Amino acid sequence: MHNTKTGPLTFGSARINAGLQHAVKKHRSEIIAEISASGMKGRGGAGFPTGVKWNLAAAAKDEHKYVVCNADEGEPGTFKDRVILTEYADLVFEGMSIAALAIGAKHGIIYLRGEYSYLRPLLEAILQRRRNEGLLGENILSREGFTFDIEIRMGSGAYVCGEETALIESLEGHRGEPRNRPPYPVDTGYLGHPTVVNNVETLAWVACILAKGAHWFKSIGTDKSTGLKLFSVSGDCEHPGVYEFPMGISVADLLKEVGGEDAKAVQIGGASGHCVPASEFARTIAYEDIPTGGSIIVFGPDRDMVDVSRNFLEFFVEESCGQCTPCRVGSAKLLEGVEKLSKGACSMQYLRELRGLGETMQLASKCGLGQSAPNAFLSIVAHFKDELMGRIAAAPGEKE
Ligand code: SF4
Repeated sequence: MHNTKTGPLTFGSARINAGLQHAVKKHRSEIIAEISASGMKGRGGAGFPTGVKWNLAAAAKDEHKYVVCNADEGEPGTFKDRVILTEYADLVFEGMSIAALAIGAKHGIIYLRGEYSYLRPLLEAILQRRRNEGLLGENILSREGFTFDIEIRMGSGAYVCGEETALIESLEGHRGEPRNRPPYPVDTGYLGHPTVVNNVETLAWVACILAKGAHWFKSIGTDKSTGLKLFSVSGDCEHPGVYEFPMGISVADLLKEVGGEDAKAVQIGGASGHCVPASEFARTIAYEDIPTGGSIIVFGPDRDMVDVSRNFLEFFVEESCGQCTPCRVGSAKLLEGVEKLSKGACSMQYLRELRGLGETMQLASKCGLGQSAPNAFLSIVAHFKDELMGRIAAAPGEKE
């Protein structure tokens, strides 16, 4: 595992349960105020402020509330949650307990990616130890009425279940399809009760923020993107692995750290993210510029970008839940077009139509999967014209 430049990851030096010990001395509203003051935004990629989410769930009037940890890490190119769960699971469970105290939940569920089933015995053992130590169960750390426990439920390998409403459908035993919103899970979530769904990394940072204070987290990163972030780096670079960087790092600086300076493009945010060309490597990885859940795929100078686009589209055709037409049909049609492009059988007019189709999918698909499925294709069309033009079967007199 790699770090910025010095020593172990922040999670490695965190004092386990220090955050929870601070939290039990606070009023619920003070815990949420601390998280809000830190500027913490969800590390899954969407960047919704964690304090706002908790506030809404805390305000909901219901005796049954739930804290769900989204451990369905399925974005292509991301593996940092697996590292957190393997090495720092206590921090994740601690973060869930803090969230439960803040919103008034008694039940926690960790929705674990099906492919990570080998981690289940380890996680069950840690949960049992925490029960034995009085960190789960009734009157936790002697706080009167603070009752909370966590169970592990397995995902079944559907990418769309990373979307929180599809995840909740799956938890309820239904087909994993996104729900219409509103209502939002903080109001009507698991089994119809208020539910906070947070990413693995978000919850681990929550534990650190309660231990070290909001000012510590806020002093790192940018005004709008505070704190540190873990990244899964793969592809054409000398040192792939899990890295920790402050939010706001430029793409160029990140590439320098991982030995990928000669890259011609970087896919930031996995298949649903953005393909950033070398001309834009001065841009920053931050919610106000290029947001990401942490997947960084480096493309070296010899990569065929049409092939990259085809690869991502194959993934979306496979993973679309099929519920809405723009995503179900659009992904297949885009893939068909990119395959024609690969074979030199795509005209300029056809390419324009594919671009229009991609833009329609971004607007008309029901959930983030379909809305982001054409992203890589559209950025490749915008930034790698030379590679595309060599394959266009231009009709006589046809212009771009
Ligand atoms: S956008 Fe795709 S994944 Fe999302 S609901 Fe529509 S078909 Fe399903």
